[in-house]
Formats: sequence, C-alpha cells, structure tokens
Amino acid sequence: MAYAYDDQNIFAKILRGEIPNDTVMETEHTLAFNDIAPQAPVHVLVIPKGAYVTFDHFCAEASEAEIVDFHRTVARICAETGICPGDGGDGFRVISNAGVDGVQEVPHYHLHILAGRPLGRMLA
Ligand code: IMP
Repeated sequence: MAYAYDDQNIFAKILRGEIPNDTVMETEHTLAFNDIAPQAPVHVLVIPKGAYVTFDHFCAEASEAEIVDFHRTVARICAETGICPGDGGDGFRVISNAGVDGVQEVPHYHLHILAGRPLGRMLA
C-alpha cells in the first residue's frame, strides 16, 4: 500500500484551523462536521485527525484507539441525531468514497452520514 497524503487538502486545513467548519462532535482522534453542500437533511462528515487518505489506508495504518474512537463517534452522532432504527429513528446511510471510481473529492479519509429523507436504493 502506497498512499501519499496531500496536507493541502481541505480537510487537513480544517483540522489545522485554517478554514472554519460547522463542528458536530470532536474527540481525541476524530472530528465530525456538517457537509457544506448537504445531500440530505442530515449530512455529517466524520474524519480521523490522523493523515489517512482512504478507508483501507485508515484501517491498515491507524491505531486501534483511533479506529475505535472513529466508529464510536459515528455511532454517537447517529444516536444523538435520533436516526437509529433501534431507537425508533427512520434510519441512515454511511458511505465512504475512495479514489477515482469512488469519486472521492477530498483525499483525507472521511465517512458521510446521510439521513432525514428516504435515500432510495443505492449501489451506484
Ligand atoms: P467525497 O466525494 O466523498 O470526497 O466528498 C467530499 C465532501 O466534502 C462533499 O460532500 C463536499 O460537499 C464536502 N466538503 C468540501 N469542502 C467542505 C468544507 O469546507 N466543509 C464541509 N464540507 C466540505
């Protein structure tokens, strides 16, 4: 695996505080903020604070503490937003785009949480 991390990407600038963001939740290893161009009533981006490009890069090289913190943060946001089906919410979708075919715009690993409307069947 050979990923070169571009530290000029927009999420790196957000993490350095060089551009503002609408923070939803922040932990030791993770930052979550509202997407600037929301595709649904709930559209939150969750990013690790470490320099990882894609899902596979993150899972291969992040520490267990980072990986657990990241996913617990995603789950906490879903719970606190009231979208978890197990708590009577209407559900959600989590997506991570990677590379050219995945149409990844920002080369810092991130996961989208989408909810608040019927999202339709999605595999493309
Ligand atoms: P990707 O295609 O999975 O890389 O999606 C990148 C997402 O980042 C898109 O949904 C954009 O709307 C979002 N985005 C780009 N710049 C910003 C920003 O400055 N703040 C919040 N979201 C952003």
